[in-house]
Amino acid sequence: MPDAMSHLQPFSAILRPNESLAPFTLLKIGGPAEVLAAPCGLGELTALFRECLIKNIPVRVLGAGANLLIREEGVRGVVLRLTAPAFCEVHIEGKQVRAGCGGAVSALISAAARHGLAGLETLVGIPGSIGGALRHNAGDRTAEIGQFCRAIDVLDAAGQKQTRAGADLRFAYGACNIDDPILVAADFELESDHAEAIVKRMRKSWIQRKATQPYTFQAAARAFKNPAGLSASALIEQSGLLGTKVGAAQVSDRDANYIVAGTGATSRDVLRLIELMKDRVQERFNIELEQDLSVW
Ligand SMILES: Cc1cc2nc3c(=O)[nH]c(=O)nc-3n(C[C@H](O)[C@H](O)[C@H](O)COP(=O)(O)OP(=O)(O)OC[C@H]3O[C@@H](n4cnc5c(N)ncnc54)[C@H](O)[C@@H]3O)c2cc1C
Repeated sequence: MPDAMSHLQPFSAILRPNESLAPFTLLKIGGPAEVLAAPCGLGELTALFRECLIKNIPVRVLGAGANLLIREEGVRGVVLRLTAPAFCEVHIEGKQVRAGCGGAVSALISAAARHGLAGLETLVGIPGSIGGALRHNAGDRTAEIGQFCRAIDVLDAAGQKQTRAGADLRFAYGACNIDDPILVAADFELESDHAEAIVKRMRKSWIQRKATQPYTFQAAARAFKNPAGLSASALIEQSGLLGTKVGAAQVSDRDANYIVAGTGATSRDVLRLIELMKDRVQERFNIELEQDLSVW
């Protein structure tokens, strides 16, 4: 494995070696990235990514870290943050919205609501970036982000910019077929509606979500996808695991599909708790839960 930092000297102004990733995830635990990189725009991102490909350096993209567990040993290679303004812009024309994948889903929802555009408002309160939300087709029973996405600009595995659209772009529950390494920007098509109606739906979803999810001050993550027609939360709760602890990681007592990392929790605690939740549901209901949380 090459030493990433020494191979990427021309980009040193935007690189931070051995940078802890914990502050950039909602769980707030885990080790460092060998190199954390924050390119300023598409040109710099493309050049850096191509250099990594040539030098055989692994590259990952960090969104808002709402669906990520970082292992204690950290991550080899380059971890990209697309937080520069160039990756977070939202442009609206009529019902068409173009948004950078580094931006927050909440910013997209607010901008759309201000322009009287409906569709995404019931996703309010789902933490994450647009890139992360597209990767997992974030949503709930009311809507999923993929329903409204018409195209995604990506950097493909050869570092070329491509647009995935039409039949090449498919979403399913908790998933998107696009496996290109970097999602850069996306086009959405929304519906016109009255601003008051949009805000009313937004408020209702916000209240429902906040009443059932871990408290915002808690370091938390959602563990599993819902099996078809079933609720992962209900299965875990009925397996008697509400509030169960492994080390300082705990099954949330507000919703059993969430893990809360208490003070001193380690990634190992979280991984062992996930195994326990999976095993108990398998034993009790003979159902294999599919993990939603990405682990680096
Ligand atoms: C309290 C709480 C509530 C939640 N509620 C919901 C919910 O109701 N519905 C739901 O669907 N999810 C929910 N989640 C899960 C989470 O919010 C979503 O999965 C979210 O979309 C993650 O986005 P992110 O930007 O944080 O992704 P990250 O956690 O940063 O990354 C997740 C994956 O996406 C990849 N990725 C991110 N950005 C890019 C990019 N630009 N290009 C390429 N790959 C990228 C990463 O490499 C990683 O593999 C919840 C999580 C929490 C903690």
